[in-house]
Amino acid sequence: MQTDDNVDQDEIAKFEKLASRWWDPNSEFKPLHDINPLRAGWIDQHADVNGKSVLDVGCGGGLLCEALAHRGATVTGIDMGEAPLSVARLHQLESGVEVDYVRSTAETLAAQRTGEFAVVTCLEMLEHVPDPSTVIQACADLCQPGGDLFFSTINRNPKSFLFAIVGAEYILNLLPRGTHEYDKLIKPSELARWIRAAGLEMQEMMGMTYNPLTKRYRLTPGDVSVNYLIRAKKP
Ligand code: SAH
Repeated sequence: MQTDDNVDQDEIAKFEKLASRWWDPNSEFKPLHDINPLRAGWIDQHADVNGKSVLDVGCGGGLLCEALAHRGATVTGIDMGEAPLSVARLHQLESGVEVDYVRSTAETLAAQRTGEFAVVTCLEMLEHVPDPSTVIQACADLCQPGGDLFFSTINRNPKSFLFAIVGAEYILNLLPRGTHEYDKLIKPSELARWIRAAGLEMQEMMGMTYNPLTKRYRLTPGDVSVNYLIRAKKP
């Protein structure tokens, strides 16, 4: 398969359309703004990113890239959307960090920069890709031996359908309708299987839960029923 085949153009178009509002914390991207400090803190706690080379796959407007650059990492962000990358490049001028933004898939970059990154992150992106397993394999190839990898996505079960799709898109209007398709959501067991098939070692699963009353997210070690993160290591 050609490496660009693993891109769903309709998915890219969804994010292109919204890109100008990426850094507006009250826009469609509010959930990403709200979870960003939590996930950046968790990544830094386990990978100690200061001084390390980090690759963020499916970086969008650069929320995580900037957060990790602020913590001293040398960050490369890749995405297949032109508009999100333009927004990311503009925003870094404002915030004074330097991130290298490249239009690429993980699969294409893996052929050019094998084993180059100490840390590879791929957050809230796998559920928008036709074949997540080849993205995970590419992330594994891009990571240095001994390096750390972080993935996040949304579980697939009746509760996640209710919370992440019906609740977030139809009741609370946190996200535009159609942002997430149920069939593309990923069970932790599936993600774990692809991680191991890519030769990586599973380290930890971490849930992220939203309380609609306090409107806050928090990390919840025991609850991966809706949003969750996984960290892994390359041996
Ligand atoms: N990871 C970011 C953005 C998540 S939105 C964050 O969590 O803050 C999903 C992003 O993945 C979008 O910017 C979209 O353009 C990108 N994307 C979807 N499919 C992709 C693919 N196959 N290769 C690279 N980027 C992709």
